[in-house]
Amino acid sequence: MRNNNLLGISNTEAKKRLKLFGLNELTVRIKTTTLKKLINQFKDINVLILLGAAFISITVCFYNNHLDELTEAYVLLGIVILNGMIGFIQEYKSEKALEALERLVSPRSRVIRAGKECLIDAKDLVPGDIMILSEGDKISADSLLIDDNELKSEESALTGESVPVHKTSYKKLDISSSLCRLSNPIYKNFGTIDNEYKLFTGTIISSGSAKALVIRTGMDTSFGQIANLTATTEKDQSPLQKELKSIGYFVGKLTFIISSILFLVGIIFQGQSIVNSLMFAVAVAVAAVPEGLPATVTIALAIGVQKMAKKNAIIKQLSSVETLGSTTVICSDKTGTLTQNQMTVRKAYLPTGYTLSFNGTGYNPKGEIHIVNHNQKPRLNKSHPILPSLKSVNTIQETYIKDIHKMMGIITHCNDAKLVRNGETWSILGDPTEGALLTAASKSGIDTNNIRKLKDFPFDSIRKRMSTIIHTKQKGYELYVKGAPDSIIEKCTHILKNDKIHKITTKDIKDIIENNNSMAESALRVLGVAYKPLVKDKLEDKESLENALVFVGLIGMIDPPRPEVKEAVNMCHKAGIRTIIITGDYGKTALAIAKDLKIVTNKNAKVITGKELDELKKQELKKILKDNKEIIFARVSPEHKLIIVDILKDLGEIVAVTGDGVNDAPALKRADIGVSMGITGTDVSKEAANMVLTDDSFASIVEAIKEGRTIYKNLRKFVWYIFSCNIGELITVFSAILLKIPAPLTAVLILAIDLGTDVLPALALGLDPDEPGIMNNRPRDPAERIMIKPFVLRFVYMGSIIGVIVVSTYIFDLFNSGWRWGEPVLDNVHLHASTLAFVLLVIIQMVNAFNARSEIYSVFRLKTNYYLWGAVTVSFTLVLGFINIPIIQDLIGSISLSIKELIILFIISLIVVFIEEIRKLMIARKKKS
Ligand code: ATP
Repeated sequence: MRNNNLLGISNTEAKKRLKLFGLNELTVRIKTTTLKKLINQFKDINVLILLGAAFISITVCFYNNHLDELTEAYVLLGIVILNGMIGFIQEYKSEKALEALERLVSPRSRVIRAGKECLIDAKDLVPGDIMILSEGDKISADSLLIDDNELKSEESALTGESVPVHKTSYKKLDISSSLCRLSNPIYKNFGTIDNEYKLFTGTIISSGSAKALVIRTGMDTSFGQIANLTATTEKDQSPLQKELKSIGYFVGKLTFIISSILFLVGIIFQGQSIVNSLMFAVAVAVAAVPEGLPATVTIALAIGVQKMAKKNAIIKQLSSVETLGSTTVICSDKTGTLTQNQMTVRKAYLPTGYTLSFNGTGYNPKGEIHIVNHNQKPRLNKSHPILPSLKSVNTIQETYIKDIHKMMGIITHCNDAKLVRNGETWSILGDPTEGALLTAASKSGIDTNNIRKLKDFPFDSIRKRMSTIIHTKQKGYELYVKGAPDSIIEKCTHILKNDKIHKITTKDIKDIIENNNSMAESALRVLGVAYKPLVKDKLEDKESLENALVFVGLIGMIDPPRPEVKEAVNMCHKAGIRTIIITGDYGKTALAIAKDLKIVTNKNAKVITGKELDELKKQELKKILKDNKEIIFARVSPEHKLIIVDILKDLGEIVAVTGDGVNDAPALKRADIGVSMGITGTDVSKEAANMVLTDDSFASIVEAIKEGRTIYKNLRKFVWYIFSCNIGELITVFSAILLKIPAPLTAVLILAIDLGTDVLPALALGLDPDEPGIMNNRPRDPAERIMIKPFVLRFVYMGSIIGVIVVSTYIFDLFNSGWRWGEPVLDNVHLHASTLAFVLLVIIQMVNAFNARSEIYSVFRLKTNYYLWGAVTVSFTLVLGFINIPIIQDLIGSISLSIKELIILFIISLIVVFIEEIRKLMIARKKKS
């Protein structure tokens, strides 16, 4: 049933209905409650150890009536709780950030409102809206089919059945009454209508196109009523997150054992009170355990993901960030990813021997068509529409003009796009290829608004053509076809020349192929155009219809490369990342674009077509992919994409693959990084992908890879930073035991360092700008673990240096105050020395954060990290507060230091930079030699 006169509801009515029915959302998501999330923070083994210690201290204090020792236990408890809260806030924030990103890729719907087609957020759909659906769309509301073209829907989300089901429009629908009026009985009787005529939320259009009337939205849909489908899925963790989690457990257990031994040694051999001994054991535990690490990793990843979103790449899983950093091959589509997807028809070839050339820009239908290869080169434009006034063009045969008109008629009617005027500018709704054809046809004077179609067989990337049945009084029924030239020629038995149909000859075919090649070599995307007269009774079967066609001509359009891609390709070359074009377009067109973008530098770069691919055995293709670094796959279908991705993965490559169509989903899922297009991608491809590009550009993939590499490096930086600091603290505490001197740092002071001063610099390291040459190295091996020997040695050595410096300064201060070995330390002397040790440790750690910024480059060569400067300023202010505010002084046990002392401590702390700089210099020298 054709129904082109549906107007839909008005915008005001839509607003009213939105109020009445609510947003089209599934609201009963089973989410972890906020309280549960908060409690989860305290389930961590390390936090449990600290909590346990705090409770034991408090109990023992009460039991022994040592109320003077209670303060310390309370502070300890308070800090542990604060730690949990910080973790909770971080997790909450990162979750919110990810949710915001999810919203960016939330589905949109093409609807008719107030007689106009428009794109709206799917959550704004209301009953009575008319949706325009095409292949790859995910259905956003339960609806009734009012118009269909070979529609198949995949309903596995609802029924578990993955074989697509055929759907047809509802025959009993009375389209003369207002469909959109809610009083229409179909809204009430929807439940009684057979499923054959309905589309359901959550299902997918696997082929064909349709118009459907929205009947139920949100929780009223069948999908909304199935509660278990709405449960949130488990969030996956990245390999690094998992590795750190297990390291955290290991360190936690080890610490528990060591602290327990220390606790017993304190009571049995040193005769200390239970509380004192416990507090000391806790101090060691606190020093060793990287409390904030998992939360910091998550938030650093989440912030990184937000940064990527600003650069047009939306990551759907945190784990993909890491994988991105080790990508070795990008398999990219051509159209829209490497090119602008801004098509303009430039040339057309008609078998009579003439060539048309089109001028004008963009989708503006104003422009001229010149007939070239003709002595007088007459001009056809709007004032001389081709058909009605063809006699005015005296030097061209009338019959030839009829051929041109046939071509323009076909590309106008076999077309789903619409030209939209916004003031002086023109844009399109629908496929840019079709928009360009419509624009070109408009330049010939054809009225593109007066379209009378009977049935469409929509374009798909496997047949690579589209056809439409139309009916006119003069010619009766006709099939209009357009598509990839090869897929048209193979179906043609006849050819149109000078308004006469002839049998197609081998010479004709040779001519067509030559013209196709010549257009493709100048980077034009070429489409073949054909038609066939039809008999009324045989209008149904697409397979038999698209045969024995009459060839009309070729039409070539330019789709310029994106300007930013050249630099991105260059970056890939330097970064050891291979770019392979996998396109549905013609090989010569793809090669021309690839050469222009320098993806291909070799004259004889290999171009393999889908047909050739079918002939190849897996091993042969493997060898070709291994031996040929520069390779283009052309005229391939999405299934071929899956085969290529599989083999590349077999070869050990980490593959990012782009895709936009419904059939691309398996390849997107199979790839290490599936990349879908935010603008042109179908809902299905977006759902299957790990990353969605909001600008569809190849350059954004490369930016994301760069960001992925940077984030991974940054994670390493702060892991190194936190462990080197913790080891510094541990050594400080242990040295005191070994040297039999009073502990320089109490549990509370260590916690104050870890929480008050460590967290911010660590986070700032997660936001460090990229190091020089981040894209000049080969991709990282994804199997590489972070805690490998050199990495561990590096933080152990730095931690030891920090520990030695702090303990030496502490002992020096004790000596300076008149203490000698073996003597008891006076309280005020200890207070001064331990405050000194505390402040020095904080300053050294801050300075060490700058060391952490690069494993090999001097800190003075790096871009400024403003976050780190901010973090250091805040942390230093906190420390000044810790030692100068009387209440805090009493709570944590500190006193004020003079400015002179602070300056001296700062100068001492520079030792760690000096040592690291020498190490980095030695590495640079070694590299040079
Ligand atoms: P890529 O795979 O790089 O995005 P592509 O867009 O050319 O390239 P397909 O969409 O599979 O890939 O198109 C394959 C061929 O089908 C095109 O080269 C063109 O000749 C033809 N084609 C594309 N769009 C249409 C259409 N709307 N109608 C008819 N034929 C089309």
